[in-house]
Amino acid sequence: MSKQNKAYKFRLYPTKEQEILFAKTFGCVRFVYNKMLAERKEQYEQFKDDKEALNNLKFPTPAKYKKEFEWLKEVDSLALANAQMNLQKAYKNFFSNNAKFPKFKSRKAKQSYTTNVVNGNIALLDGYIKLPKLKKVKIKQHREIPDAHKIKSCTISKTKTGKYYVSILTEYEKEITKIEIKNVVGLDFAMDGLFVDSEGEKANYPKYYRQTEEKLAKEQRILSRRKKDSKRWNKQRIKVAKLHEKVANQRKNFLHHQSKNLANIYDAVIIEDLNMQNMSHSLKFGKSVADNGWGMFTTFLQYKLKEQGKQLLKIDKWFPSTKMCSNCGTVKEMMLSERTYQCSCGYTGCRDHNSAINIKNEGIRLLAI
Ligand SMILES: [Zn+2]
Repeated sequence: MSKQNKAYKFRLYPTKEQEILFAKTFGCVRFVYNKMLAERKEQYEQFKDDKEALNNLKFPTPAKYKKEFEWLKEVDSLALANAQMNLQKAYKNFFSNNAKFPKFKSRKAKQSYTTNVVNGNIALLDGYIKLPKLKKVKIKQHREIPDAHKIKSCTISKTKTGKYYVSILTEYEKEITKIEIKNVVGLDFAMDGLFVDSEGEKANYPKYYRQTEEKLAKEQRILSRRKKDSKRWNKQRIKVAKLHEKVANQRKNFLHHQSKNLANIYDAVIIEDLNMQNMSHSLKFGKSVADNGWGMFTTFLQYKLKEQGKQLLKIDKWFPSTKMCSNCGTVKEMMLSERTYQCSCGYTGCRDHNSAINIKNEGIRLLAI
């Protein structure tokens, strides 16, 4: 048995009073975070040449500020404790992994806070969720959380268009038995539509999703022409934010759908270990690579396969998947503009499909099946 985590996200419909308390909590969390960071920064400047002293310093706690700033007591204390944890994590990261010194949170940053389950302070009731300090908040729970899943924490967030969500993190025990791998597929990353697989199938991005993207681009152009902070600019800004949300949701749905399909059909999926950042630089693909959501897709694919005892296998990025003939194994140079692979052995195939077959074969070799 192993412990698994799963998060469930639902829309919240707070009352006016609850909205005010949410706003206060977002604000207090940001305030405490910035306060602690300022203090930490000062300590760091003072002792940065004395590593031992720096290590022995006590991390500031929210409790300390509650005396000075009484209004902090109005909000969920666990949310403040989590702000401290987050800062501690960021700070530790800075020390051990050469990450950047944590930054102050601005008013414009994402509005959210996390709270934990302690003594039944959080519970799902019929159409409501009980949250610390808020009592019952209306929730649209479109799917059940299985009884065996224990709620660990909740993250409440507010989008730029004013919608509230709760992401409920659960933990459960699951026995996963590895299945014998028989049915394998190889995927070749494709700029226009996500991937082409070794069986010749393409993941085509739905046309109506593209239409939303085009609409977003158009509205963004209108926004850029309006005078900043004017009434019309503000109206347009909300329009753009709403479209942004829509595009992001559509993309996510598409990636969920595609990964679910593959994880249900195949026992193992083989992909290339691509570095998207390098790729967008070297091939001048630009933003579209990142927007394509390959990273998100492979994350979904990985956990959907794992849940079923299946496998996602990444093959070396230096493997010559595009340059090799999938029929005879000859390797030749391929220009980016060449869309068809033609080999002297007589093989002719679509570039991406040929590549996907090679990826599949390499995967089979590595899996030794
Ligand atoms: Zn050939």
